[in-house]
Amino acid sequence: MGPAEYSTRGAVAVITLNNPPVNGLGHALRRGIVDGLDRAAADPGVKAVVLAGAGKGFSAGADIREFGTPQMTADPSLHAVIQAVEASPKPVVAAIHGVAMGGGLELALACHYRVAASTAHVALPEVKLGLLPGAGGTQRLPRAVGLETALNMIVSGTTVPAAQLEGTRLFDAVGEGDVFEWAAALAETVADRRPLPLLRDLPVTHPSPEGFLAFARGAVSKGYPAPLRCVDALAAAASQSFEEGLRVERDLFLSLLGTTESRALRHAFFAERAAAKIADVPEDTEVRPIRSAAVIGAGTMGGGIAMNFANAGIPVTVLEAERARLDQGMATIRKRYEGSARKGKLTSAQVEERMGLIRPTLGYADVASADIVVEAVFEDMAVKQAVFKTLDETMKAGAILASNTSTLDLDALARSTRRPADVIGTHFFSPAHVMKLLEVVRGAATGKDVLATVMRLARTIKKTAVVSGVCDGFIGNRMLEPYLRQSLLLLEEGALPAQVDRALESFGMAMGPFRMNDLAGNDIGWSIRKRRYREHPETGRSLVADRLCEQGRFGQKTGAGWYRYEAGRRDALPDPAVDEMIVEDSRERGIARRRIADDEIVDRCVLALVNEGAKVLEEGIAQRASDVDLVYLAGYGFPPFRGGPMFYADTVGLTTVVRRMKGFGWTPAPLLARLAGEGQTFNRS
Ligand code: NAD
Repeated sequence: MGPAEYSTRGAVAVITLNNPPVNGLGHALRRGIVDGLDRAAADPGVKAVVLAGAGKGFSAGADIREFGTPQMTADPSLHAVIQAVEASPKPVVAAIHGVAMGGGLELALACHYRVAASTAHVALPEVKLGLLPGAGGTQRLPRAVGLETALNMIVSGTTVPAAQLEGTRLFDAVGEGDVFEWAAALAETVADRRPLPLLRDLPVTHPSPEGFLAFARGAVSKGYPAPLRCVDALAAAASQSFEEGLRVERDLFLSLLGTTESRALRHAFFAERAAAKIADVPEDTEVRPIRSAAVIGAGTMGGGIAMNFANAGIPVTVLEAERARLDQGMATIRKRYEGSARKGKLTSAQVEERMGLIRPTLGYADVASADIVVEAVFEDMAVKQAVFKTLDETMKAGAILASNTSTLDLDALARSTRRPADVIGTHFFSPAHVMKLLEVVRGAATGKDVLATVMRLARTIKKTAVVSGVCDGFIGNRMLEPYLRQSLLLLEEGALPAQVDRALESFGMAMGPFRMNDLAGNDIGWSIRKRRYREHPETGRSLVADRLCEQGRFGQKTGAGWYRYEAGRRDALPDPAVDEMIVEDSRERGIARRRIADDEIVDRCVLALVNEGAKVLEEGIAQRASDVDLVYLAGYGFPPFRGGPMFYADTVGLTTVVRRMKGFGWTPAPLLARLAGEGQTFNRS
């Protein structure tokens, strides 16, 4: 049986989309739908058709496995399927449960009738790939839900509960129970009703479309072209005939397809999928069951890590060295959950349920039976080794021993146990219950099944996991170091913090380096610098950054850092005292300050990431360029529409990248120099 199953129930033909996991509209499914419609049309015993999805939802849209293959556009295209649905001489009813997204929703929009389970969700998320819905979505959705709702959905790409759209022309009915049964009942009721209703025949409604569209143009995200093109397509829906609107949509879609921004966003999408694959760990590697967890240390990170487990329904025991810190850690967790409840993200019952899954303790006997334990104690090798030694003595056989260390040698930690194969790094980012990125650190001895288990667990706790080898700073923080070093050198040479931040934020970084440091705490970098000064006395010192810390300007938490902060506010205000200190520092060092262009700021900081990224790749610390990109996209606020630092370098062209680096007097990493020489790119696609 093909991915479109055909059956009849009395006078109703049922075409079931069955292309696991999400009924992606691949070529065979598209053909199956058209064949089903033809069969229904030709059968005099059939009076109406129901289009339904097997499994968890109706359809999540295009089959991503066909992206970039000829299958993607092979006949019948989604357009042809949609035309066939609209042209069906017998009414077609879409039965929507789970999700109808992208092309899946566009297909449903072409049906004569739609019913949805109240738990179903709909979305046109194409904008997230730098595109717009290209199969009539921009023309039919505003006719169904009105111009404003359609524009909000299409420009943001967000998922909307069907229940929220009840009462619009999108759905003929929304309710509880078996959506398929009512679709079949509706199909029987409307079997002889003519003419057949089509959304294309409805007007687009809005009291003042021009004013609204002008407002929308001003409000949409300007970083990349897709949101504005979405508005253009909706403007066509509001002002032109349906057929003309479809032509405009098609042209706009094609104009977006080749943009660097859309290519970057699609790269980011596939990077996330690729990251789950590990060359020497087969996908069918047997994983260890994780039914319970433990966290050692209930500080900033430990508390957040414990919340990740509780949020996924995994009971977790949190162990601390002292009662007061344990109580404080638990109180912070409760405060965070209650904050979410105040924002309406959790019910109070859910708060209690999650708190109920987190058990505090002071004794190792309570954690001994956990399937995984994550150590998040002070960043001190001796302290951590002692903890690992105790874990080795107390944990049950087969338990995974993970460390949240940011900089320490995981292999040395593994050696302090008698089971180094069970030791792995799980480098969470702060705040750990919010940040998506998880660097999974593979030690020299880490077992393949341990790695596979933690990668699976990362999915369960909704993290974006990237495998990193062992090195100082792993992928992300190691690359951050030269980036930050450039930002500090720029200060010495003539820039000020606000200029550096503004230039990088205009490039698209979520936050410039100085605002970021003020948020994270300048003392963290200070203590890492002090360690490096000890370990590598030959490397230069950053006196301005050290002086800032000597003055206790640790950032937002002390009310002053690279910027000043007014009590209770987070706005970074330029501080003349800091600017003076920077100018004074240049004078003392005999550096003549110069005007630095924003382009130079962006180039030096971003290309510093690229150069270190190339080294990380060449050393095998990262498995692939797209993993490096993913780390920066998910964990460091790198702009998605630039695809990550390595993809960005590819779009600039590696020859140009190398020339610019040489212009700064840098030595390009060997891999970078080689690829540039060969006319290659970091990402092969
Ligand atoms: P923290 O100081 O806030 O918390 C550490 C906690 O561990 C404290 O509550 C302390 O009482 C407890 N502790 C210390 N020794 C212990 C022991 N022997 N047994 C049990 N508990 C003990 O530190 P943090 O910021 O949460 O960092 C924890 C780890 O996470 C460090 O390795 C750090 O490098 C890493 N990390 C931190 C961040 C960050 O932004 N803070 C980000 C990623 C990783």
